[in-house]
Amino acid sequence: MADCVFPTRTARFGLAQHRPEDLLRSQCMGIGYGEDLLVCAALGVDMADCVFPTRTARFGLALTFDGHVNLRLSKYSEDYNVIDLDCPCPTCDNGNENGKGLTRSYLHLLASRETVGAHAVTLHNIAYQHRLMKGAREAILEDRFPKYLKTFFKRFYHDGSNYPSWAVDALRSVGVDILEDQPGVIPRANSDPQWDPAA
Ligand SMILES: [Zn+2]
Repeated sequence: MADCVFPTRTARFGLAQHRPEDLLRSQCMGIGYGEDLLVCAALGVDMADCVFPTRTARFGLALTFDGHVNLRLSKYSEDYNVIDLDCPCPTCDNGNENGKGLTRSYLHLLASRETVGAHAVTLHNIAYQHRLMKGAREAILEDRFPKYLKTFFKRFYHDGSNYPSWAVDALRSVGVDILEDQPGVIPRANSDPQWDPAA
């Protein structure tokens, strides 16, 4: 997991710019939502840890770049796609090519009845976070982190009016405007997470 530790160049975007270059400057405990992790990285946090990906898996919640997927909802009972076709985790792997991945429909059954369902979703959620933060690390090293942030928020929330204002304001404080290409859009003041709608 060493490639998930943010490089020291994170400092250029954040609060830790005056710390020694050869030291990890800060660890933030208890943050696990994708948007929280990315905003904290932009503010200079180098490491983070949280129970979020495993705890939410026990509740049948799968994390994806397109939003949360609550596998307990009945709308997934006949969804024969894997959680994420692009995910390399053992739960999704080969779902696209060979049909070996576990479908959302199957996970819907497991999530309510069998512990193994939580294990399967945990594997996926850990892989999601690894992909998310590995992508952030690579974007920082390649001087394209602001674009990475904009791409993430647009895909996750679809529309700027769904962006939480706290995230928009925090990123603007370090020079990144994720609403730059959506002029006139006002982000929502409500900071509650956006969960998967039932219908
Ligand atoms: Zn997966």
